Amino acid sequence: MRTFVIVGRPNVGKSTLFNRLCGKEIALTYREPGVTRDPLSVRVRFGGKPAVLIDTGGVAFSREEKERPLTDLTLATLRQASDLLLVLDGRSGLTPLDWEIAGVLRKLGKKVWVIANKIDQEELDSLAGELSELGLGEPIPISAAHNRGIRPLREKLTGED
Ligand code: GDP
Ligand code: MG
Repeated sequence: MRTFVIVGRPNVGKSTLFNRLCGKEIALTYREPGVTRDPLSVRVRFGGKPAVLIDTGGVAFSREEKERPLTDLTLATLRQASDLLLVLDGRSGLTPLDWEIAGVLRKLGKKVWVIANKIDQEELDSLAGELSELGLGEPIPISAAHNRGIRPLREKLTGED
């Protein structure tokens, strides 16, 4: 089963996107037992096929603990993924933490989808393009908060475009 893991620095809109992508298609919601700061996982149907969607938002970046941008739990979650959804703030542009996270994702060798969130209006689409600088693929402009570009995103993720 495909496992889509949402990752990105705090406050870019990961949880908002997670809720959008769940929509009415949530079959089952659960938290893995036994750990604190659990990633939140849901079973979804994308393009008619069952998949797992995981929000790593419950996992804080612990830069004080280790000289790495992501916690061990987040890394373990990313390793389970088939697809990584790297969420960026399309309006603020790239930050050093975005670059660090992108570096970690690149090394994992998985399919990475670059998502430019907070592109609330069409006029902002050009800002999303700047995020291609990361070299991880063409950014997909969306507004999770305003439900903009979510349907095309789902179709892209499931190869139905
Ligand atoms: P997370 O920390 O990455 O999980 O981010 P959240 O989903 O909690 O969102 C952080 C903030 O960004 C909240 O205030 C959201 O309302 C806001 N936000 C999320 N998506 C969008 C968006 O598409 N447009 C705008 N303008 N704000 C957004
Ligand atoms: Mg969150």
